[in-house]
Amino acid sequence: MAVFHKEIHSGPDDVSETAGRAELLPGEEYHPIQDYDLIVIGAGPSGLFCAINSSEKGKKILILEKKNSPGHKLLISGSGQCNITHSGDIQDFLDHYGDRGRFLRPALLGFTNRDLISFFEKSGLGMVEEKGGKIFPESMQSRDVLNILTAHGRKLGLEIKCGHAVKSVARIDDGFIVSGEDERYRSRQLVIATGGCSYPATGSSGDGYAFARTLGHSISEIAPALSPVVIKEYPFSDLAGLSFSDLLISLYRRSKIKEHRGDILFTHDGLSGPGILDLSRYIRAEDQIKISFVPEANRDALERWLVEKSQHDGGRRLLSVLADLPHFLSPGLQLSVRLTKRLLQISGIDFDLQMSQLTRVMRNRLIDNLTGLSMVVSDVCGFDAAMCTRGGVDTSEVNPKTMQSRLVQGLYLVGEVLDVDGDTGGYNLQAAFSMGMLAARSIKRVFNGN
Ligand SMILES: Cc1cc2nc3c(=O)[nH]c(=O)nc-3n(C[C@H](O)[C@H](O)[C@H](O)COP(=O)(O)OP(=O)(O)OC[C@H]3O[C@@H](n4cnc5c(N)ncnc54)[C@H](O)[C@@H]3O)c2cc1C
Repeated sequence: MAVFHKEIHSGPDDVSETAGRAELLPGEEYHPIQDYDLIVIGAGPSGLFCAINSSEKGKKILILEKKNSPGHKLLISGSGQCNITHSGDIQDFLDHYGDRGRFLRPALLGFTNRDLISFFEKSGLGMVEEKGGKIFPESMQSRDVLNILTAHGRKLGLEIKCGHAVKSVARIDDGFIVSGEDERYRSRQLVIATGGCSYPATGSSGDGYAFARTLGHSISEIAPALSPVVIKEYPFSDLAGLSFSDLLISLYRRSKIKEHRGDILFTHDGLSGPGILDLSRYIRAEDQIKISFVPEANRDALERWLVEKSQHDGGRRLLSVLADLPHFLSPGLQLSVRLTKRLLQISGIDFDLQMSQLTRVMRNRLIDNLTGLSMVVSDVCGFDAAMCTRGGVDTSEVNPKTMQSRLVQGLYLVGEVLDVDGDTGGYNLQAAFSMGMLAARSIKRVFNGN
């Protein structure tokens, strides 16, 4: 493999074939530099969309993709059905990216969910809205979303080189040298769209962080997000698959640090479901999670109801009484017998107990567990299970109005390589497309000399 030394980075005039040749070590092959107006590293949604929308007559655009075909992660998004965006008001999107809503504001407002839906509809792919406002292609096939992107790319004459992993990136006076295994490219404008670290088999394995670091950017700590959690001494392994709608989840590290409502799924070793996945960007090992089957605000009402049942229905089994938990105490909650038995077991109560035998101590333990069942996190699942990456290129070093680096002129960073992660529900793909579009608009301005 050719190694390029610092002289080759010193200025555009030095990056001549002669300069390149002079740098070769004995036994190295010489590869001539190929010139482009724009190079995009990564053929995921952000990179493809950026390249398509940067297209300008007479401008040579190259997309370099590590995998043998584009969009591997896009293809598995939404379990292969591609939850491409959300139907909500675009202003409401801003609350779905932790504290990065402000950074994403220009990108999201400049290219909204409506714009994205309209782009695909004009390209022949209708969209449908599913439960909770999630938007999917009407075919429910991620493949159709990807096909439209690649078809646009082909039509516009973009060059997409797959199976070409970028190995390094270097700054020259008036642009960049991008090197692969055995090829070198030069361009004035460069987009890093290499994604995060999750599901590394899709090709997004964190290479972009190294490229950005080489070019002077800071990278904030990388960790899995949109990830299930593993629970210590987990009591619900045999109830894996059980799910609950819209429960309050509270996160504690010494004191309460976050509260979130959402659906929860019991897995064989812990918790998942949108409510947990969305909260996972804040969760660390040893944190305490409390799940409220009954809202804490209804604690007194729950106590009154149990006391009344003990007084008037003393001969009835507690287990069957709990199956009739009134709607006003926890709207929508139906406690299954298996779960109720487990909650009684956790509360140290025999599930054959009659209401008249329920002591105040037992009742308080049961109420504690119904209003805030406490579990300790042993771990947040790793990048093989996480749908997103928390951390990445520091957003304070990127201009949110252009997606251009504040440190390196001509460098753009888009998509998950940045320290941006969204909730489940289509927020990540929308952000990837919106950032891709915003960078494209800035690149076009440069192409047109504005
Ligand atoms: C299982 C799963 C399901 C998901 N479902 C949804 C969903 O339904 N809705 C939603 O909004 N979000 C979903 N996401 C998240 C969403 O897919 C990502 O946020 C989005 O794909 C990020 O786009 P991107 O363009 O930034 O990066 P990526 O899609 O990760 O693309 C980056 C590309 O860069 C390439 N690359 C990396 N390094 C190099 C290199 N050195 N040289 C050349 N190429 C390189 C990679 O191979 C890859 O193709 C899901 C994620 C996962 C893992």
